[in-house]
This record gives sequence, C-alpha cells and structure tokens, in this order.
Amino acid sequence: MSFGSELQDIQAVNSYLINDLAFIQEFRDTIKERISIEKDYIHKLENLQKKCSQKNDKRGLTLTVGSVKLPNGDTVIPKNSTFQKSYDKFLKKFEESIKDRNDYVEKLNSLSENIKLSVVKKEEIRKKHLDYSSRINTEITNMCTEADKNETKFREACNNTDAMKKKIEKNEDEKSKKIYDQNIIDMNNKMNMYILSIKVANAYNDKLVNVENKNVLDNMQELHESLVEYYKSICKDYLDSENELMEKLKSTNNKTVDYSNKIDLSNDIALFIQYNKKEWKSPEVKTFATIPLWKTTGDIYTKDINAITFLRNTSLKLQQNLSIIKDDINSKNKELEGINSVYQTYKATPSFGDPNEIYQKVVDAKKEIALLQLEELKCEVQINAISEAIGGTEMEIIPHNFKNKNFIKQTVCSCCGESLWRKGLSCRECGYSCHLKCELNVPPNCTKQKLPKNKRATISSYPSSEKKSISTIPTSVTVSQLSTYSSKSVQPTSKTKNPFLEDDTDDDDDDVLDSANPFSSSSDLQIDLPTMIAAYDYTKQINDEVDLHAGEEVTIIEPDKGDGWIKVSCSSGTGLVPANYLVPSNSSDKKEGNYTTSNNDYSSPFMEVIKQAKVIYDYTGQMDEELTVTHNDIVTFIENSEPGWIKVKNETNGRIGLIPESYVEYIST
Ligand SMILES: [Zn+2]
Ligand SMILES: [Zn+2]
Repeated sequence: MSFGSELQDIQAVNSYLINDLAFIQEFRDTIKERISIEKDYIHKLENLQKKCSQKNDKRGLTLTVGSVKLPNGDTVIPKNSTFQKSYDKFLKKFEESIKDRNDYVEKLNSLSENIKLSVVKKEEIRKKHLDYSSRINTEITNMCTEADKNETKFREACNNTDAMKKKIEKNEDEKSKKIYDQNIIDMNNKMNMYILSIKVANAYNDKLVNVENKNVLDNMQELHESLVEYYKSICKDYLDSENELMEKLKSTNNKTVDYSNKIDLSNDIALFIQYNKKEWKSPEVKTFATIPLWKTTGDIYTKDINAITFLRNTSLKLQQNLSIIKDDINSKNKELEGINSVYQTYKATPSFGDPNEIYQKVVDAKKEIALLQLEELKCEVQINAISEAIGGTEMEIIPHNFKNKNFIKQTVCSCCGESLWRKGLSCRECGYSCHLKCELNVPPNCTKQKLPKNKRATISSYPSSEKKSISTIPTSVTVSQLSTYSSKSVQPTSKTKNPFLEDDTDDDDDDVLDSANPFSSSSDLQIDLPTMIAAYDYTKQINDEVDLHAGEEVTIIEPDKGDGWIKVSCSSGTGLVPANYLVPSNSSDKKEGNYTTSNNDYSSPFMEVIKQAKVIYDYTGQMDEELTVTHNDIVTFIENSEPGWIKVKNETNGRIGLIPESYVEYIST
C-alpha cells in the first residue's frame, strides 16, 4: 500500500508534508527554549557556586582549627582538616557539574543547527516533487489544447470541402474539380492530424497520470517517511544528551559523597586540639581575707556557745536539706533509668519515633541530677566543715519543734529580746517564740513543756546543765523554712512543702492569731489603701527604706510579700519599713477599709474588694473539698475558710473548692 497506488491528490499529500516540516520546525523551537532554560539555570548555578566559593575563602581556617590566631600572622597551616577538604571538593565538583551542563547546552545547540539545515533540505525536496507534478500537468494540458486545435482545423477543412462540393454540383468545371480534390486531400490530412493528436493526448494522459503522477506521490511518501525517521533520530539525540548529562551529574555527585565519607573526625579533632591547646589553668582557689583588728583566721570560730549553737543549728538544717536532696537525686536517677530504657527501645526500633527527642530528655535529666548533686555537695561541704570544727555530737540536742506563726499582738523574741510581730516561729512543745531570722541562734534545748508566758522570754544562752539523755538527732524536727534548699527546681505540689501551710491552727494561745492576714498575699490593689501606726522609731538603713516616727499613721502601699518588709507612705516619704514596727491603726475615721487585724473575721473589708486572683502554680487537690487548679487559671475569691486556704471558684471550669492562698496572686478588678 502506497500513496501512488491508492491516492491521486497531490495537493493533499503536499499539505501533509508541509505540516510535517512545520512540526520538525516546532520541535526545534522546543529545543531552543530548553537551551534557554538551561542557560538561565547555569547562570544561577554559577552565581551560587561563586557565592559559596567566596564564603569558603572568607571562612578561612574556621572549619579546620577554628578562629585561632596562627603564630607569626600565618594564614595557612600545613594540613587542612578532612572536613574542609571535603567541602573544597564539593565546590570543585559543583563547578564541574556546571561545565557538564554547558556541554549539554553545546550539544543541544548543534542539534538545533542540524535540524535547521535538514528542514531546508527537505523543504527543497518537497518543492521539487511539487514542481515535477505541475510540469506533468502542463504537458497534459498542452497536448489536449493541441488536439482541440487540430479538431478545429479539421472541422474548417470539412466545411471548405462541403462548400466546394455544392459549387461543383451546380456548375462542374475543371478548375473547381481540381480545388475540390485538393480540399478532400487537405481534409483527410487534417483529420489524420486530429486523430494523431488525440492519440498523443491519450498516451500522455496514460503515461503521466498513471505512471509519473504515481511516482511523484510515492516520492512524496518517501519524503514523509524520511521526516518521521528524522524526528525519531533528533528526539533520541535530544533525550540522549540529557541522559548523558544525568550520568555525568550522578558520577560527579557520587564522587562528592565519597569525599564527604572520607571526613576523618578524629584526625580533625586532633588538628583542632593541636592549634587550640593552651596551658591548663587550675580553677581559682578562694582564700579567707583576714581582718587584723579582729584577729580573724580562716578557721571556723567555735570559741563561744552562741557560735556553736548557730553552727549546730545550721548543720541540722543542712542535714534536713541533704536528706531531701538525696531523695530527689534517687528519684531523678530512677526517672533517668526509665528514660534511658525508653531511649534504648527507640534506638532499636526506629518506627517508634525519633530517638533524638528521647535523648534530649536523657540529657535534661542528667543536667537536673548534676544540679542536685551540686546542692548535695554544698550541704555536705558545710556539714563536714562544721562537724570538723565542733567535733562529734557530744552535746545533747533537744531541738524545738517550730512552726510558722503570725504574731498579731506585740510580743518579744525569746532569742534576741527584740519586738516580735507578725511572721515568726513558735515551738509546738514549749511555746518558745522567736524571729525567723533568729531561728539558727536558738539553742536546741526544748523543755518539751509549756512554760508560763512570763517565763518564756530570753533564754538566750545554752544551758548545759539541762542535759538530757537524748544524743541522737531526732528526725521529726520541723524545718520551718528551707532557706538553703528552697526547692528551686521543684514546683510546690504538696502541702508539706509550702511554708504557708505549716501554720498551726489549733493554737490555744490568746496572744497570737493565725488568722489570714490580708497582707499575706502580694497584690497590687487599686483601692483606698489601709493605714497603720508606727509603734517605734525606725531609722532607714539603706536607700529604699524610710524613717518612721513612733505614733505616726502611715499608708500601706505594698503589703508584706513575705520578707518582713512593708512599703509605706509616711511623713518622711515612701519606702520600706520593717513590718514588725507597725501596729494596726485604731483610727475611727470614715474609711471603711481601716485595717483591723484583731478582727477574727477573715473576710475583712479589704478582702471584699479583691474579687479575682490568678493561679501562679499548678495545684492538685488532695482532699475532697480541695480544688485542682492550673497555672494562669483565674479564680474568684469566695472566702478565707482557714488560714492559708481560700475558697474559690475556678472560672475555667466553674468548680468551687479550697486551694492554698500562696498559689494565687490577687488581681485588682
Ligand atoms: Zn529575734
Ligand atoms: Zn521547744
């Protein structure tokens, strides 16, 4: 089956070929566009490569030996790190890959040029075929025209012969007869000419249409086939070049990977160490700075009973802290063990998740343990030093069982003899009362029975005559305030760790009141501020304090935040004064908010103004009537149900219950 044997329409086949050629031309345009994309890309890659190289030059030796200054201002060292070398190779391979891309562009360019030339040639062939076809048509037309002309001539001759015949029939003469004979000859000749030209025209038609035209069509088919074959070859060339590029890139990239696999970490680390090693500096040893006037030495002073009492109390407290820390370390270690085994499981089974996240937890736990161990060391060093200085526990120790207490009425510190008001300590067993700051100076000589009030004062020396046969340190000592180890890393989660919750309520003393002091919570209140009266003169010691004059009324700006200081406004200005220098104001002025702490009613007018508070620590309710709150919850104050505890409504979930007051911060409404 071929065009020649099946088709006759040269024009249809001609447009088919024109479309073929246009398609090849379009394919060439595609390649040209591909070249321009590649060139743009190469341009961008070149810029990137240049940028990386410049950065690499600027980086100098930082990947090799860090930013150490080389001796004699050298900028080059004899050997580079394998890390740096690997990156240098990376940049070199990057450059090579750009070259490969340029080669690729070159190939596409020559392919495009080749197509251009081929299209021109094929176009010429197409035209030749078409020319030959039209030449054939012209020949046929010419032959037909000639036959038509011969027919006309023959008909003219016939007419002439007819006319002469009629003339002779009328008047037969010799001359006419001769002309008539001549006409007959002429007519026959013309007829023969006509017949011959018809034969030639038919022969031409037969030959040109049936043979030559078929040949042209077959040749045109051949051209079409060659164009398709040509497309196949250029398409292959085009894609082959791309594959070739890919192969080159792959091999270049593999080499780059090989270089990075050659990084020798231990070698590089040794190189860095070599250039960064400096003389080992021992940590600074602190020495005691002696003061000649007092003849101080670096030894712990143990020459009087007060000092020994202080040291012994300090040691006791440190031992309490130490046991808490040791417990914490133990539980942290158990936690670490757990995390570690989880980590090992994750490492062994990657489908569980990212082991690195677990590893971070391991690191965190180790850090927490290390910090706890520092606290442990801090306690142990002090305990050992004290024990060395004062010897074994030869002395009997009967520690007081202190609790926090709010002294509402003016009383006297049994230790230092000074006025004691508001925050202080009281022994549960003997009733001994003292300042928080005096705790460590109190001799551990609890009588274990309540003395009449008038005999409680000033037992400040250590009565060695009252020795009792208790030689071990009781473990039930109440550490009223963990001043050394203040659970910095541990959020208060249980009642026993919260100093506020140790207030004793079943106290039968009439001179103290464990009522909630509205000032015991720190808050910035935008209300009419309460007033108090200065009980004593006070002379300011440092800048942020003010002088007090006994008897003057002062306005409370900021209540005691737990440090024993109140910010007031008074005749000498605004500043801090010791809380225990102030007594409640009894003024009966119009202010409803006058502050009367002798009132047993917890919901003082001052409290009524406070409506809401923000939770500052998570608290998990331990008993039925307690509430669980979360950091940043807003609670609405309902009442002070017992000292240190407030009844609130949790605005987050509407639940009502008790929470420690110290877990919230009041907010003004
Ligand atoms: Zn005191
Ligand atoms: Zn006592």
